[in-house]
Amino acid sequence: MSTYEHYLRQVLRSVAEVSVSELLAARASATPLLLLDVREPDEHEQGVIPGARLVPRGLLEGRIEQLAKDPEARIVVYCHSGKRSAFAAHSLSLMGYVNVSSLSGGIVAWRAAGGSVTKPELLSASQRARYSRHVLLPEVGEAGQLQLLKSRVLLLGAGGLGCPAAYYLAAAGVGTLGIIDDDNVDESNLQRQILHNSRRIGQKKVASAEQTLRELNPDVKVIAHPVRLGADNALDLLSGYDVIVDGADNFPTRYLLNDASVILNIPVVHASVYRFEAQLTTFIPTKGPCYRCLYPEPPPPELAPSCEQAGVLGVLPGVLGVLQATETLKLLLNVGESLVGRLLLYDALLATFNYIKVRSKPDCPACGLHATPPVLTDWPAICKQTSPR
Ligand code: ZN
Repeated sequence: MSTYEHYLRQVLRSVAEVSVSELLAARASATPLLLLDVREPDEHEQGVIPGARLVPRGLLEGRIEQLAKDPEARIVVYCHSGKRSAFAAHSLSLMGYVNVSSLSGGIVAWRAAGGSVTKPELLSASQRARYSRHVLLPEVGEAGQLQLLKSRVLLLGAGGLGCPAAYYLAAAGVGTLGIIDDDNVDESNLQRQILHNSRRIGQKKVASAEQTLRELNPDVKVIAHPVRLGADNALDLLSGYDVIVDGADNFPTRYLLNDASVILNIPVVHASVYRFEAQLTTFIPTKGPCYRCLYPEPPPPELAPSCEQAGVLGVLPGVLGVLQATETLKLLLNVGESLVGRLLLYDALLATFNYIKVRSKPDCPACGLHATPPVLTDWPAICKQTSPR
């Protein structure tokens, strides 16, 4: 049997240690460095080396693969005085990480050398409870939840797609939700537009949506725009958002949104529904095709579906709106594979999901290689699809 002191000496002999000045030099170099604080959350709250991620010692082995997929990733771990971090570094090297070192003397040495310490941004106790199922996910965690709370998402439409998308984005704690819709709540909306209710018939949809979302989650700031998206206001309305959820119900708005989002370089999560069928994709300017690569021209009027006559299964925009919220959260958290370059086709009657590849068109007038930035215009109405969306 080994005493603690004996075991510690043994571990210290086997792990690489870095001094404060070596850590500073490593952080100044071009190679990325993952700095992990392996102390307990209450110690972390007192002050942290800027840029460090908290992974308490007891959770380290279970979480490291999420944080460092490459066994050659450069990792420095630190604790209070360099002992727990030595054990942590030892364990990571046993797992196969070959560039791990422990900060000698820990944050005590860092402070003594004049290193700056910041108070980490933290969730409140109430937020920790509300978002506990997110915080438990290594891919989200407290840092991811804080990121969501700082994020800004714009919903184009508070209808069939926008309602479920906004509902889940608000529940997830996306801090700012802008909603554009100039319509009023109509009885025929209530079959699918779940932010509204029978008492609010005749009210502005954005006001009804804002009330429901506020009651669900007071963390969320709702910015209501009771206007129609047009060439004259698109850039002002869209500026400053991280992601746009396209719940538009008509072709002119989709083309206008596309061109404005290309100009502003904002990702758009697009969906459309028709009877029992739906499609979904994500457009990220410069990373993949845009809406005009997918549909270079609006359909001729005789082929444009008249949704007022066609109808839609009420739950279908619900499914798609929730998928839009899912894709939006992935973009905000920078996790998983986005739908860039893939069009998902859902058939509710057959219960099938299929994908087709969508490629960028080199001659696309909006995003093509030689395209000049698009000039925003109000596209002529193809068919008056006011409902349902
Ligand atoms: Zn394009």
